[in-house]
Amino acid sequence: MKNTCYIHPTMDGKWVCPECGNAFCSDCVINREAGGYYGQGLIRCCPGCVVPTNWVGVSGTIKPFWTRIDKFFSYPFHANPLILIIAIAFLDAVLLSAPLGWFFRVFLSALMLNYAYLALRRSAQGDLTPPKMYDEALTAGAGPVLSQLVLFVLLAVAGGMITGLAGVLGLVFYGVIVMFFLPSMLIILAMDGNPIRAMNPVVFMALPFRIGGGYFIMWVFLVCLLFAPASLLYTVEAVLPPFWYEFFGGLFSNYYMIVAYHLMGYVLLQYHDKIGYEVKYEDIKQSDEQTAAKPDNRAAEAAKRTTFLFAEGKYDEAIEYIEQHRAQGGELPQELSEKYYALLKMKNKKAPLLAHAPDLLDQLTESNAKVKTLDVYGECIKIDAAFLPEPKALLKIAGWLAETGNPKIAISAYNKFAKSYPDNRDVPLAYFRAAQIFHDRLMNQDKAKGLLKGILKKFPDHAIAPKVKNYLQYIGG
Ligand SMILES: [Zn+2]
Ligand SMILES: [Zn+2]
Repeated sequence: MKNTCYIHPTMDGKWVCPECGNAFCSDCVINREAGGYYGQGLIRCCPGCVVPTNWVGVSGTIKPFWTRIDKFFSYPFHANPLILIIAIAFLDAVLLSAPLGWFFRVFLSALMLNYAYLALRRSAQGDLTPPKMYDEALTAGAGPVLSQLVLFVLLAVAGGMITGLAGVLGLVFYGVIVMFFLPSMLIILAMDGNPIRAMNPVVFMALPFRIGGGYFIMWVFLVCLLFAPASLLYTVEAVLPPFWYEFFGGLFSNYYMIVAYHLMGYVLLQYHDKIGYEVKYEDIKQSDEQTAAKPDNRAAEAAKRTTFLFAEGKYDEAIEYIEQHRAQGGELPQELSEKYYALLKMKNKKAPLLAHAPDLLDQLTESNAKVKTLDVYGECIKIDAAFLPEPKALLKIAGWLAETGNPKIAISAYNKFAKSYPDNRDVPLAYFRAAQIFHDRLMNQDKAKGLLKGILKKFPDHAIAPKVKNYLQYIGG
């Protein structure tokens, strides 16, 4: 079943409302803190019915791994894995010639393997962010590493036995089999941590068949990924000093390992129902998601409810809802404030529109939204020429009007400022700006000089007075 968000047709619908049957993306559902009956975490509610929704499940949200190959390559470039990759490659190279270096190098390899294994497990559970090495890789214990070591040792022992029985040709044949099924074995190992089960041919051979062509694509990808840097490294071996050869070799193999294990985990996630692996995660966490979803505050909830009503075409209800929200002391953040204005404009509700516009203009000028600000101001003075924004916003609007080639409206805005807020300390500034516009843009010398002289006469001690004097001199007054 392929759902798209009821409000955003281009987004996947991850949450389905049991009441209205609509699906919503993660941006549209209302996040509420679960408590009591629902246990820990978040409950996602329908923005229309405000009842808990149902998650469509992994199959409804997960993308085939071959459509997101770039994400696998970029996975190790998060801070945690990147530091680990570089640090381990560097220490490995340093320890190359140190006494007892091999001992520590084994430990470093184990640490890397542990981290990669954790990445696999985490990806398989739907969390596509890399593990944090400090709290997880170091405290996970030796279990995962040991079970993998047991697997590798068992494979080597079996290889030795086969060579004894069937000679080198037998070993080559065995090697090919192992190479093809190794990802399958590692996936099985990650599922239940039992190396004996992972070595069971009935089990590891069945898995690729269950997955189908996807397994082969993954395998080709893993092999190509392994051989490209390996062959590159082989060609530069002669020219690189041993330290650097070891360092770059370590970088490549650590990077490869994390990508490969992450990919295997993702394949397990993608085919979990075919493989019979239970995914308990309640939502896929994308690798580029920085923070986990948080419960919405009242304003964010109101914004989502409004967006829903808007999408439904229930404009009057949306207006009523916002007004109710505000009457209960709820805040109107900019996004919601803009939406409210758009609704009032659409329904041609002039009085509430003019009453709301000064608040909106405060927000718009504060965030330097020039075009929107001038649009709103223009619409308001069209309805009522006496429309008056707050002083700070009005001063900014007048400046932007002058900047965008509207000298006359700018002057009238400065004029409005001086008349409506006569005690404001920026009144001389408003007159000064108006004078500049008269001189520079409207070529009206007399008006400019008159205004400038007026400022000097009315505000002789104002901080701007010297500037005004200079300007007056400059234009020949
Ligand atoms: Zn609903
Ligand atoms: Zn949506």
